[in-house]
Amino acid sequence: MCGVFGIYGHKNAAYLSYLGLFALQHRGQESAGIVSTDGLNMYERVRMGLVSDIFNNDSLVKLKGHIALGHLRYSTKGDSNLKNAQPFVMKTGKGIITIAHNGNLVNTDDISDKLESEGAIFQSETDSERIVHLIARSKEANLTDSIIDALNQVSGAYSLILTTKEEMYAIRDPYGIRPLCLGNLNGAYVIASETCALDLIGANYIRNIEPGEILRISEKCVESIKPFEKNEPHPCIFELVYFARPDSHVFSASVSEARKNMGKELAKYDKDNIIKKINADFVGPVPDSGMYGAIGYSKESGIEFDLPFTRNHYIGRTFINPNQEARDFSVRIKLSPVKEVIRGKSIILVEDSIVRGTTSKDKIKNLREKGAKEVHMRVCSPLLKYPCFYGIDIPTKMELIAHHYDVDDIRRIINADSLVYQSIESLLNSVPQGTRYCHACMSGEYPIPK
Ligand code: AMP
Repeated sequence: MCGVFGIYGHKNAAYLSYLGLFALQHRGQESAGIVSTDGLNMYERVRMGLVSDIFNNDSLVKLKGHIALGHLRYSTKGDSNLKNAQPFVMKTGKGIITIAHNGNLVNTDDISDKLESEGAIFQSETDSERIVHLIARSKEANLTDSIIDALNQVSGAYSLILTTKEEMYAIRDPYGIRPLCLGNLNGAYVIASETCALDLIGANYIRNIEPGEILRISEKCVESIKPFEKNEPHPCIFELVYFARPDSHVFSASVSEARKNMGKELAKYDKDNIIKKINADFVGPVPDSGMYGAIGYSKESGIEFDLPFTRNHYIGRTFINPNQEARDFSVRIKLSPVKEVIRGKSIILVEDSIVRGTTSKDKIKNLREKGAKEVHMRVCSPLLKYPCFYGIDIPTKMELIAHHYDVDDIRRIINADSLVYQSIESLLNSVPQGTRYCHACMSGEYPIPK
């Protein structure tokens, strides 16, 4: 779970990267960094923390040049420390290479073993460093061929941006698991994990980087290369369920529309099954990610929409906390119940997903404490039963509530009056047709062979 942003050919490259990272902050809050170049030198600032804590006018002015690369990290592999923060800068025989990665490789251990047996010494636990080692050691004569050679040895999910002092490469793995898009700002090329970053800086969206594409941007030309064996793309459906920002388009799908459709699908199911029995007073979200789902549900069902919780925007996402106790507490400070909305009401509560069950259990408890008559939980995602190996922080099987319990047990544990999850089929109805999505965390069907 990371965000990447690159810009080529703009005099304010670092400042625009800073803005781009702001727009993408939801993709990673542990560390942030920008590395820029003016063609002569590289300038770098990579720190632990949020974008707003790391950069100010003074630090941005020092990041000179017309090319810049930014990264936000949310660790899914490797510790959360400065060594693993990105962009990663490495001096190689092929020049200085800067890399920013979103995704997870699935053969990192094999690559590490092979490189270590050849004498490599690693400074970090990141996939990015392994990729640069492979590039540096490639026998190919030029950098593009060395990148192809390196990526032919890796397997997994990678949306990458690489820069040198002269060029920028935007790369998406052949399965296209994580998003990456291309935009233009007054002739400068912009690459970003999500379109919300293009929108913020006023760049025009051009297109997605295609699965299996290497886009090489230099002063002379922009070259698209598709050197990898063709695989059927499998973009991650969880980007649409939870991870991406609602004002983004990822994989050409509008995130807000997809989420509204997920809510509509849940309402359709209820209409055919139990809605008359529920007699709900209103439908409302667990903010923020349940918001569009609840709107969609309300539209489809005709049940009034209301907001049973208000959100404190000054703390990060629930999962940042390392242990259960801290997690329980942060769920509490993040969302506060609005008793005037809740008291005496029968509520349909829409949530994007249930992972460990912490949020749902706590929120339903809050609603009951504030006098809710009934709480009917509706979940936009299907049961999350399997871990993600491709870069989303879905924890180990042991921590996933749906790995241990069926829907009725979960309903009892979270203390809901009724609980309905989206089926995989109806989730697929909610997103644009014609794409085969990765839903391994829901189905256990992993598209990339290990
Ligand atoms: P839990 O409380 O463990 O059931 O987690 C569910 C809550 O975490 C929901 O409100 C989701 O919006 C959010 N969530 C879902 N997936 C993730 C993830 N991979 N990382 C962080 N938060 C998540």
